[in-house]
Amino acid sequence: MKIMYVEDNPANISLVQRIARMGEHEVINYTNGESAIEHFAEHRPDLVLMDLQLEGRISGLDVVRKLRELGFSTPIVAVTAYAMVGDRERCLEAGCDSYLSKPLPVAEVVEMVKRYELRAQAAPKAASQPEPLD
Ligand code: MN
Repeated sequence: MKIMYVEDNPANISLVQRIARMGEHEVINYTNGESAIEHFAEHRPDLVLMDLQLEGRISGLDVVRKLRELGFSTPIVAVTAYAMVGDRERCLEAGCDSYLSKPLPVAEVVEMVKRYELRAQAAPKAASQPEPLD
């Protein structure tokens, strides 16, 4: 499975890379939202993990909104250090499928990756990509 992790914290990036390697998943990392949006279609990830506070001008939730606007239905899990009241709702409203709070709970991340791997195997990848525009 191909996982795009949009995250600017090196410790979290290497943690997720280690977890992904155990399941033989590939991790593509971008530290800012602009690059993640720009390169999304070429990578066609099966799962996106999205930090909310990124380098650059746009937030993780802005990236999520943009990807949904572009028609991508790829599962997106928000990852945030700010476990505040209303965070979960804001993430879901922006178009995320679920939500994890930092520090990253390793067992939960492993479990989550497995769950989305099963989902990716069940659903043909083409179905999660937008139709080309005429
Ligand atoms: Mn961050």
